[in-house]
Amino acid sequence: MRDIWEYISARANYALSKRQVISLIMLVLLVFHIGLLGFFIYFGITPMVVMDSVSILLYIACYIQTKRGKGLLLAFNLCYAEIMIHAVVSVLLLGVDSGFTLYIIAMLPLGYFASYNFKLEGKTVNPMFYVIFSMLAFFFARITSSYIEPMYSYGNKMVDRTIYMVNYFIAVVAIIVFFSTLLNQIRYLENLHRSQTKKLEQLSKTDTLTGLANRRSIEEQYAQSEAIQEEYALILGDIDDFKKVNDTYGHDVGDLVLKAVADVFKKAVRGEDTVCRWGGEEILIFLPGCPLHNAQYRAHQILQNISSIHFEAAEYPAFHVTMTLGVAVSTEAESFMETVKKADDRLYFGKRNGKNQVVWEQVE
Ligand code: GH3
Ligand code: MG
Ligand code: MG
Repeated sequence: MRDIWEYISARANYALSKRQVISLIMLVLLVFHIGLLGFFIYFGITPMVVMDSVSILLYIACYIQTKRGKGLLLAFNLCYAEIMIHAVVSVLLLGVDSGFTLYIIAMLPLGYFASYNFKLEGKTVNPMFYVIFSMLAFFFARITSSYIEPMYSYGNKMVDRTIYMVNYFIAVVAIIVFFSTLLNQIRYLENLHRSQTKKLEQLSKTDTLTGLANRRSIEEQYAQSEAIQEEYALILGDIDDFKKVNDTYGHDVGDLVLKAVADVFKKAVRGEDTVCRWGGEEILIFLPGCPLHNAQYRAHQILQNISSIHFEAAEYPAFHVTMTLGVAVSTEAESFMETVKKADDRLYFGKRNGKNQVVWEQVE
């Protein structure tokens, strides 16, 4: 019951597919016509009995086809035509007060539903075609019925009024269901779009190999100095002789080494820190509110943890890698890129002075 309420009030977080909607329409119409058939048999209105029997066969065939996902547009058009013909014939036989013209109006949203849903698979369906068809059916039924007397009657004014009310009720429900179906589709697509955009945003900020943030994301975040309110430290690390690792053990092993080194950095960060893959085998940590001695200590820890990893590659003996790290703390006058440059200068000073070390002092 709650599901139905959520669906018709367009709050459902799912959308029925076009095939589901159309086969459901066929099923509902089939059941509806079986009810009508019983009704007209009871009142002995033979032409309506014949017409309903034909309609029932049509809906059985359409339901089977649409369940298989075949001929959806054809089934949809046949169903639309059947409703129009049924409404017109009913008005001619039973008079305009029978309320069957209401179905002509109630079916208007169907054309818009079809126009939207069939366009997704490249079929052009103009909703105006259904609007014009409905208008013609309505005017024909309304004008003709004012010139001819109804051929049949239920023989009771009370029954007449009840049938009108029932037809009115069903027509209103049909309109509600079609609009909620369309709204549910829109909501569903909106949510899908939102979650895909979020996923893409996430992907565009992440380095696929290491799972770290990429350089662009950190640059976007901190390139404007207003984005950083407090003093911060940077640790920039570069794997020593990484080219040799690639040359000796192969690029795939190089990738594994890079991932393992990235994991050491991931474990070294606190919640407020950001770690990113700055370049090929260069990793940068942004540490807000971190004083120099603390950053220096953490850089040493990283260096130690990296050196203690045993790497294994096929027939080779286990090996280790080392890293050189430059540490810098921001000053008020400096931009983010200037602080990075400071850390980079220290890193390369370390490279020139034997590698496998942490450098935190100003270098010439
Ligand atoms: P140094 O100690 O001076 O840093 O020496 P190095 O060999 O590490 O120096 P360099 O920066 O010149 O070389 C880095 C190498 O890292 C070159 C490149 O092929 C390799 N590299 C960059 N990105 C990747 C990657 O994603 N995977 C692998 N396997 N290698 C990479
Ligand atoms: Mg290197
Ligand atoms: Mg490098």
